[in-house]
Amino acid sequence: MTAAVSSDRDQILRWIEEERDEIVRFLQRLVRARSPNPPGDTRAAAAVVQERLDAEGLPYRIVAPNPEMPNFVGTFEGGGGPGRHLVLNGHIDVFPVAGDHGWSRDPWSGDIVDGKLYGRGAADMKPGTTASIVTYALLHRLRDRLPGKLTLTAVSDEETFGPWGARWLMDHEPEVLGDCCLNGEPSGPNTIRFGEKGPLWLRFTVRADGAHGAYTHLTKSATLVATQLIGALGQIEDLAVELPHNVMSAMDEAREASDAAMGAGAGAITDKVTLNVGLLEGGVKVNMIPSECHFEADIRMPPGMTRERVMAEVDRILADHPGVEVEETGCSPPSYCDPYGPMVEILQRNVQALRGHRPTPIVGLGGTDARLWRYRGIPAYVYGVFPHGMGSHDEHVDIEDFLHVVRTHALSAYDYLTAK
Ligand SMILES: [Zn+2]
Repeated sequence: MTAAVSSDRDQILRWIEEERDEIVRFLQRLVRARSPNPPGDTRAAAAVVQERLDAEGLPYRIVAPNPEMPNFVGTFEGGGGPGRHLVLNGHIDVFPVAGDHGWSRDPWSGDIVDGKLYGRGAADMKPGTTASIVTYALLHRLRDRLPGKLTLTAVSDEETFGPWGARWLMDHEPEVLGDCCLNGEPSGPNTIRFGEKGPLWLRFTVRADGAHGAYTHLTKSATLVATQLIGALGQIEDLAVELPHNVMSAMDEAREASDAAMGAGAGAITDKVTLNVGLLEGGVKVNMIPSECHFEADIRMPPGMTRERVMAEVDRILADHPGVEVEETGCSPPSYCDPYGPMVEILQRNVQALRGHRPTPIVGLGGTDARLWRYRGIPAYVYGVFPHGMGSHDEHVDIEDFLHVVRTHALSAYDYLTAK
């Protein structure tokens, strides 16, 4: 490491230490600025972000194809000549709050208790978006000697996979593409996500003649056919995936880390198709044979699986259940990139130095905007805080973990741009 590089890296860590209270206060204000999606109006949170960008004198534009869901895009070129283009990505919308049941604090309080900051978005993903903004600000101060280019994208409309956020930018603002994307979605400090599963949502409709509940000899029952079909659909979980050797071996090596990050058993399903029937409705009355039943299946496809292969298997199973209709209501393909790419090595080295352990590259079970970069062949990695209470009650972040993610992102972005 040259003297200039090591002093820049020290400077980055010093700034984070000196401005620590300000960074935490910014996260607190961002959590207090309600931005539940649905409905997805993020203007209050965007005002907090804008104030921060303005206070730092940072370059940015607002791209708001939907005026209630603004996105920030900022870019600067370093003065150190041509080089790599890194894109930082985070979202400012959050899950809604279904009443304050189970919350020990007001879900929009941003209260800090025992080193933890509470509120909706306090894990997913206002800390990660803050890490992106702080990284953008600190590297901008060093821009005169940085090679390459850094782009910040702080977006709306992520939680519903909506069209007005990163998806819009991908299609209309080509400068957000870059050579690599770094994202701070909650993942836990021990893992780096290089891929994620993708949902395929199917709605099934079963119809029968129906009859008096005692006359079972007269008609099939729509609910009975549906339950038999659901049992048979379990066969899609046996579909095997084909992946490049290095991705397969990364997924094998990640089983333990996946269990630790996402709960025991997670490692066993990262490379498997899973089926969840999230909704089932049928029948009118206890003593009538149902003439109609609907159910909706949430199928999660691992990297290496395609919608076409799953649908071919579904069609094969449906051949034994004539008259059942199926409709696709949503699909987002799985994605992955190089599990051992340059950014992974950089993140591992920095976490090793900051925390004394090497995070493991894993595949996430849920969806993030990082997939949109991978779809375009751009490597995209997720490194973020532990998801305490994500999508549930008492969502919170450990402030030390949050600051660790800020340090890791800022140093890793610097290293990525300055790597020879
Ligand atoms: Zn998220």
